[in-house]
Amino acid sequence: MKQKSIQLLSAIVKYFNSAFRPSLMGHKTGDVIAIDLNTAFDEKEREWILSDLGIDKDNPEGKGKVRPGARAVGTGQWRCSRRSPGTAGIKPFDSPNGRMMEGPGGASISDVIVRNGLRKSIFRAYTYPYMDHANLTVLTGALVRRLLIENGTAVGVAVDHHGQEREFRARGEVVLSTGAVHTPKILMLSGIGDHELLDLYGIPVVQHLPGVGRNFQDHLAVTCVWENTKIDARTMSCDAVMFWSSNSGSRKPDLYACCGPIAAAATPENIARYGPLPDMPWVMYGALTQPESRGYLEITGPDPKDPVRLVDNTLSRDADLKKAIACVEMMREVGNSAPLKPYLKREVMPGNLKGADLTRYIRDAGVTYWHQAGTARMGRGPMAVVDANLRVYGVEKLRIADGSIMPALTTGNTMAPCVVIGERAAHELKVAHGV
Ligand SMILES: Cc1cc2nc3c(=O)[nH]c(=O)nc-3n(C[C@H](O)[C@H](O)[C@H](O)COP(=O)(O)OP(=O)(O)OC[C@H]3O[C@@H](n4cnc5c(N)ncnc54)[C@H](O)[C@@H]3O)c2cc1C
Repeated sequence: MKQKSIQLLSAIVKYFNSAFRPSLMGHKTGDVIAIDLNTAFDEKEREWILSDLGIDKDNPEGKGKVRPGARAVGTGQWRCSRRSPGTAGIKPFDSPNGRMMEGPGGASISDVIVRNGLRKSIFRAYTYPYMDHANLTVLTGALVRRLLIENGTAVGVAVDHHGQEREFRARGEVVLSTGAVHTPKILMLSGIGDHELLDLYGIPVVQHLPGVGRNFQDHLAVTCVWENTKIDARTMSCDAVMFWSSNSGSRKPDLYACCGPIAAAATPENIARYGPLPDMPWVMYGALTQPESRGYLEITGPDPKDPVRLVDNTLSRDADLKKAIACVEMMREVGNSAPLKPYLKREVMPGNLKGADLTRYIRDAGVTYWHQAGTARMGRGPMAVVDANLRVYGVEKLRIADGSIMPALTTGNTMAPCVVIGERAAHELKVAHGV
């Protein structure tokens, strides 16, 4: 425990010492990208992205892959400090993606795509450059009500568009990509799901697939809060990230945390107990990489406006709770250690809690990392919803391409994996239709 803590700590102190403070550069929520896909982009995409990041396109470091974020805007001090003798044996990484998550863990400044001081959405980074293509139409203000399915084949979608119901027919296939909450909802409203639930709401069953809406997973986040010594712009993104393994015998990191002056620092329950947050909070935002708990979601009626009922069941497994405790202990050890003293005035919460008090704190502190996944899982067997080619079982010409198809959560954040799922869907469509 001590050794790991020292390694992580060194990396975080370097982040504090670094001239580069990514959090100061972005404050947009919901469109965060931490991405190093090692993806071979075509020349146009590559040039567009690199110019957007202000990188010289002939810079060899950028060649052939997206390598944005901290590296792009300059982390000179970070890189220098990595080479200093004091860091020998420490596991700081240039990027949190790839080896760091797949090996024993480590710490890194976050990779982000930033333009004009704002973090950029995956839509802006990925789709926007193609908006002038004749084969792409983006219709905003359109709510998909259900799939149109004829004789077991998906032929289009029924959509509410500015108060009017319209139908769009597909010549090739329909690809549902509405996320891990709305994809199962639309499937159920279209008659694809557990027949008992569909019968309850009078929805004609097109395909009995009991796995739709099951296997819900998310990274549950628990925060520890300190008072910062200086004013930082509060953000929804993190500055540095670390992955480590608890003492559970796992060889892969089973815990992770990001840190920074993150706006969503604490839940109302814990603020009620500890008092208002300081003006300058600094937060460690910890989570289990691979929670064992599984939840589910269901429709509550046949109308698209009926909300879903989501039962997330987080921390319902003892093993998850034990890991959450280990996570908080490590975050406190790092946050309260001597090298961070010049940067942090005091610990705000949780303090030195043990036993039932700590468990209560964790249960009250739990919030979503917004990494919902798994509700239309890929695989074989009765609970699988899509096959290895993203095709929905039992319905022709219907694929799913979003976080719902993940059988299990990825170790780290979910945006880049969802992009990979989208790339995979594109590949499958190209192959299937000879594009
Ligand atoms: C606040 C926040 C912060 C995050 N931070 C990070 C981060 O730092 N790094 C990271 O890797 N990931 C982050 N994520 C997670 C990441 O954004 C998601 O994992 C990823 O976007 C999921 O992709 P998806 O394709 O499954 O679904 P989504 O990205 O949710 O896409 C689904 C789309 O479908 C649309 N839609 C849904 N229902 C309908 C309907 N009925 N009709 C029409 N359209 C519909 C939605 O509007 C949405 O545009 C964050 C998420 C949130 C919310």
